Amino acid sequence: MSAAPILQVEDIAVTYSQLIPALRGVSLTVPSGAIVALLGGNGAGKTTTLKAVSNLIRAERGELTSGRIAYRGDAITDAAPWTLAERGLVQVLEGRRCFAHLSVEENLRLGAFVRRPDRADLEADLERIYGLFPRLKERRKALAGYTSGGEQQMVAIGRALMARPALVLLDEPSMGLAPQVVEEIFETVAALNRDDGVSFLLAEQNATIALRYAQSGYVLEGGRVVAHGKADALLELDALRDAYLGGGKPGTNGARAGSRRARAGVEGVGGAARSV
Ligand code: ATP
Repeated sequence: MSAAPILQVEDIAVTYSQLIPALRGVSLTVPSGAIVALLGGNGAGKTTTLKAVSNLIRAERGELTSGRIAYRGDAITDAAPWTLAERGLVQVLEGRRCFAHLSVEENLRLGAFVRRPDRADLEADLERIYGLFPRLKERRKALAGYTSGGEQQMVAIGRALMARPALVLLDEPSMGLAPQVVEEIFETVAALNRDDGVSFLLAEQNATIALRYAQSGYVLEGGRVVAHGKADALLELDALRDAYLGGGKPGTNGARAGSRRARAGVEGVGGAARSV
């Protein structure tokens, strides 16, 4: 792992339609070669953070009103999404977006578009994706819209990988999928990270699985980072997990979370962390 982070997000604020604040000063770092989890409940700001990095928020009338984002040390705040993909930064959108009326293989081929590979390269890359997801090879001719949810998620990830990315922004890969399929997808993420050095910023509501595969994580609430630290330390914090990822009562869990946080070496950020 090299010292320079592949992604640095510094104190960014995002507003939708010029009046709905979604992020209120989010900072995070993805070290080169790392898997970093971005955790939080519904509406916490995970998707907005990913879309701010890939510059897709403008398409939804979102605006980065302050802060700085650097990819491999270069400011990318104004970079067009397709130029980022050319430079190896790609996003897999939430909800496993596929072109439903195209076949699995046509979907995958589209992902290579930004690289303009020659035929041999393209075929080699397709085989690589089929090696990672053998099920997609069996289903290569099926229309993506008629494949299972798990297969569609694999197509969405496979299409992103066809761009040969260095950093993948992966939005809620576990959403709506059976545990076994989720496991399979996270194992592939781990293999890509281990064998090819691909870095991941992984947005998830399912903290338990995300923190099993990530080295570190950030917890968002109300558009702010309320805690961050090493994955094993964050995993220790069931109180934090309860409070931010559903079911918890922030007021009642405060003391326990505070003491466990101190033991586990997790840093709270700003005032919101104290209310855990
Ligand atoms: P989820 O897991 O439900 O997708 P999230 O953590 O990804 O949640 P975001 O989708 O980033 O959260 O939403 C953050 C805040 O911004 C929420 O209050 C949400 O309602 C608001 N928001 C998101 N997208 C838009 C949009 N296109 N226009 C207006 N407000 C939006």
